Amino acid sequence: MDQIAYVNGSFVPLTEAKVSVLDRGFLFADGIYEVAAVLEGKLIDNASHLARLERSVGEIGLALPETVERIQEIQRELIARNHLVNGMVYLQATRGADSGRDFAFPKDVKPTLVMFTSVKDIVGAESAKTGIAVITVPDLRWVRRDIKSVALLAQVLAKQAAAEAGAGEAWMIEDGKVTEGGSSSAFILTKDDVLVTRQNSTAILPGCTRKAVVALAEERQLRVEERPFTVEEALAAKEAFVTSATVFVQAVVTIDGKPVANGKPGPMTDRLREIYIDFAKATAQ
Ligand code: PLP
Repeated sequence: MDQIAYVNGSFVPLTEAKVSVLDRGFLFADGIYEVAAVLEGKLIDNASHLARLERSVGEIGLALPETVERIQEIQRELIARNHLVNGMVYLQATRGADSGRDFAFPKDVKPTLVMFTSVKDIVGAESAKTGIAVITVPDLRWVRRDIKSVALLAQVLAKQAAAEAGAGEAWMIEDGKVTEGGSSSAFILTKDDVLVTRQNSTAILPGCTRKAVVALAEERQLRVEERPFTVEEALAAKEAFVTSATVFVQAVVTIDGKPVANGKPGPMTDRLREIYIDFAKATAQ
């Protein structure tokens, strides 16, 4: 059965879903995206993703063509039309297609809104049991990483380097400290049982899963420090893990080929993963 996508007001087969070559998302990466997980047919932490979408479009002066309430209805309709049980809904809004290629914002051009779904067994993923290898790369991104922009070339190169090295993620390094993963937030658990993750700023994307995991950990009296950490600190840590909408909580077992602790997923990571999955199921909509 053909997958169904949403393009500017219409539900169409994914293979026929098209936007103009003049679309500013294509020409300038002038657009914003979001990815929300789906478990058992329901959206996970979607209010957080839609709030970040509104913030991101606000930061670049892009008016969404639909209300967030309507966007959520479309997300749900896509889940239903695609009979999606477990996976994700991707959405992208761009500044639309003008009649040429002028850098400045076009006038009277309707923004483009595109959505599609994909299947993924996030809870049952094999990598959740084994953990993943991480490599480190320089952080080559621009200075407004808090905006979830579709300009992802630095992450494409970072994640390609990871794939070529047989790793599951690349941690990006700036001024000797880890900023975050190519598509995930980075955490360590120190020898003193302190959970450390970089504080939100323009240097990283404010991860929705990161936010939920920090809150869930604090509710359970775990000490959390929001500050940058080095790779050396991560290698000396008890545990390391990444979070994102498409992996939830996933152990990091090696960094640049060197093991984190005994090179196996740690008990706190496994516990936080269970806690996050319980939260996700309990709040799914
Ligand atoms: N950091 C970056 C650079 C990302 O691209 C992502 C997700 O794509 C994340 C962090 C994790 O964010 P979230 O938990 O909202 O998926």
